[in-house]
Amino acid sequence: MTIAIRKKPVKLLWLEALKRRLFDEDPDFDYYNEQFRRFDAGFAGERRVDREWLELICSYTFLVLHNLILMNTAQHSHQLDTLFICQNFMLVIEIKNINGRLDFDETTHQCIRTKPDGTVEGFPNALTQTQRHMQFLKVICQNYSLPIEGAVVISNPSAIIASHPNTIPIFHVSGLHKHLQSLFKKYTQTILSEEQLTQIAQQLLSLHQPSKIPASLDSSRFRQGVLCPKCQYKSQMHFARGIWKCSYCHYASEEIFAEALQDYRYLVGPTITNKQLREFFNIHSSDAANRLLRKFQFPYTGSYKNRVYQLPENLVDYMKPFFSSS
Ligand SMILES: [Zn+2]
Repeated sequence: MTIAIRKKPVKLLWLEALKRRLFDEDPDFDYYNEQFRRFDAGFAGERRVDREWLELICSYTFLVLHNLILMNTAQHSHQLDTLFICQNFMLVIEIKNINGRLDFDETTHQCIRTKPDGTVEGFPNALTQTQRHMQFLKVICQNYSLPIEGAVVISNPSAIIASHPNTIPIFHVSGLHKHLQSLFKKYTQTILSEEQLTQIAQQLLSLHQPSKIPASLDSSRFRQGVLCPKCQYKSQMHFARGIWKCSYCHYASEEIFAEALQDYRYLVGPTITNKQLREFFNIHSSDAANRLLRKFQFPYTGSYKNRVYQLPENLVDYMKPFFSSS
């Protein structure tokens, strides 16, 4: 078995950075907070489903891919939460982490959620979404004649799955193993060789379009500097002798710089110069800024004065070994 590790989506990382820094009085503050809440819940729900694969006792060879983003010929994207592929069939899984009562209307194709307090809301219909993904996968994988199945998995245990059509199975995460066993019973014929199984996964991965950082906001809309986590990111920390210290609560940390620089990468851009570092992080000395940039051995272009440093993607992990305390 091969189970890919689900990475935090870029949009969620961007929203996390924004949540720490966007001014409370910003006109879109509530909008971004709500977006963050939804993305964070979605990711938590997907992680809950991921744990099920590890406990799956299965004698077949299989692969599990997560968050695969594929473009169709009309340039519309298909975001597959999870794709299970084995030698006998393929299962595309749409994961929903929502609570309340869920009604799926067969005629209007709408999903209606009724919260415990009686509030009624419309949601994109996961059953229709899954069918759309299945149709698309049929086209891409037509050379393999592998049966393609779909399912909607509800990861929130308190959700009540009420009325729904019988087009696509929909069940709670606890029913995933049983559903897979029923598919193994249904598809007993081996269609792909192990080599073809790897091939199909590689083909899909080669078509994957990683999501991009959303368009940047004007930097006057968010707090700059290294912000103190003990003060809910409301006060700035100052740099002296290699340590960042909060001017309000006196919390001190060296590593906090990694998180702040990651925020910079998401909200401002993937490159930084000595001048940009000094301005954003309020460092007065050019030499101190230089020492800081060189310490992490970021790849750079340009000569000494005009060096442009590239900030790697997984910045917090990348910077970890360079801190003296680690
Ligand atoms: Zn503080």
